[in-house]
Amino acid sequence: MLSLPQAPLQRLSLPWLTRSGIDAAILRLDLIDPLVSGNKWFKLLEHLRLARASGAPGIISLGGNHSNHLHALAAAGQRFGFATVGLLRGELQDTPTTRDLEAFGMHLHWLGYGGYRARNQPGFWEPWHARYPGWHCVPEGGGGELGAKGCALIVEQARAQLSVLGWDDYDAWWLAAGTGTTLAGLVMAEKGAHPVHGALAVPTGYGVEENLSALTGYHLHEASRGGFAKADAELLAFIEDCERTSGVPLEPLYTGKALMALKEKAGTFSKGTRLIFVHTGGLQGRRGFV
Ligand SMILES: *Cc1c(COP(=O)(O)O)cnc(C)c1O
Repeated sequence: MLSLPQAPLQRLSLPWLTRSGIDAAILRLDLIDPLVSGNKWFKLLEHLRLARASGAPGIISLGGNHSNHLHALAAAGQRFGFATVGLLRGELQDTPTTRDLEAFGMHLHWLGYGGYRARNQPGFWEPWHARYPGWHCVPEGGGGELGAKGCALIVEQARAQLSVLGWDDYDAWWLAAGTGTTLAGLVMAEKGAHPVHGALAVPTGYGVEENLSALTGYHLHEASRGGFAKADAELLAFIEDCERTSGVPLEPLYTGKALMALKEKAGTFSKGTRLIFVHTGGLQGRRGFV
């Protein structure tokens, strides 16, 4: 009960990786479950455990109308028998994601844009606590310490499968960072044993550096290409090309940008580097864009 399936660790074959002498693997968090996909599952794990242990009647969280986080929460709620409530940014909209949320049984409240902006104001939660007494609240995007704690399992899962690649160790991690919570989880689990590279899907100055300020053992790389959710033609062509060559599906907001940033930095790794790229999932959100 409340345990996570193993994400397969696979070889990642792309000509530009080979040319740079990088021996790359990909940890497929996108494959752990058809519905509860990607890093959001790991970020929710400790929240679900706490909600269960405290006997909370349900779980409440917030996000946008393509949110991978709300999607994972709603699916997990249905799977494990928690009621779920989503507080959504903006006015009522019908997207593939919101349709899924409702199909999973999540109750949606649309806060408007101003109402959503107030989410970090004191007093924001009061009416929701009154309306849903005893419910467990998960921060936006599944961020925070509990979210990071669940991501330590990502390191465990990869280490348990190194022999599949014929590796006895690895040299570094590479993954997309939004809030940096997943990255923080990896850094904490590594305790300095291997460096973790985060490709920033959001422009610098959005708080990721602050979220990580207590940690060492990681490197950040700009990868947002002009802003979160901005997808240019070069990126889309790169994604198509990588998908065709590697057989791994990507989406433009996180995994596609992270892989493109890796290509740009590939020359900075020494030959023979064994690198684990984390596929953080998010493919459900792609329906909103393509
Ligand atoms: C949310 C998300 C991220 C960012 O995770 P953080 O823990 O916020 O850094 C990366 N990739 C995908 C696919 C996501 O959905």
